[in-house]
Amino acid sequence: MKRKLAAGNWKMNGTNARLAEITALATAHPAPGVDILICPPATLVVQAAALTADHAMMIGAQDCHPAPSGAHTGDISAPMLADAGAGAVILGHSERRENHHETNDLISEKARAAHAAGLIAVICLGETLAQREAAQTLDVIASQMHASLPDSASAANTVIAYEPVWAIGTGLTPTSAQIAEVHGLLRSLLAERLGAPEAAALRLLYGGSVKPSNALEIFDIPNVDGALVGGASLKSPDFSPIITALESAS
Ligand code: PEP
Repeated sequence: MKRKLAAGNWKMNGTNARLAEITALATAHPAPGVDILICPPATLVVQAAALTADHAMMIGAQDCHPAPSGAHTGDISAPMLADAGAGAVILGHSERRENHHETNDLISEKARAAHAAGLIAVICLGETLAQREAAQTLDVIASQMHASLPDSASAANTVIAYEPVWAIGTGLTPTSAQIAEVHGLLRSLLAERLGAPEAAALRLLYGGSVKPSNALEIFDIPNVDGALVGGASLKSPDFSPIITALESAS
């Protein structure tokens, strides 16, 4: 049975003091009915993993280099993240696609590296506002998915997050019908690529301005298996009701 997933992306936020939010979440959800993943900055992965060693919560990272080691100053490899206690890594977030000019091919290489290191790759896709207004959303999503997903992808080692760029951190969200359309497309493309059973088992997250007040409605949408949450994952009083909403939708 597929477990739904509530994933938090802390982005470049948080020092040691914020680890208290992870402790609070673990205390509020001692036996969660859904999977919980928190991706703090890389500097906190070791401490966060140690804090959650006795809890079902998984700790992840926000990026990795495609190579296992080498002369790449400032980068962190997938085996290093696994060694630090991460179980997953977010890849291809639109902020990295934009700020670091990451291409689908690079994201696919990074995902392959994550899989080789035993990490779950949370691969992000999403259209810009200009692309949506030009009615290109479905084409953009299809090409990003095909090109960002390596052949090593399976339901066990990959999660796909649909995150419209215009909905991230803006308070704007697509309509339920728009989310359903993209998630339905992803499910059918995955079925062609991986076969129907594997496609049905692979978790598809929605991300972009998810908050306690809209979580229930979003989790009711067909083919939405959870959420990737930015701003509302930073504080346990905001993230906890999102987890509870997902539990009640499961
Ligand atoms: C994100 O950055 O992945 C995200 C979804 O951010 P927010 O929830 O703040 O829109």
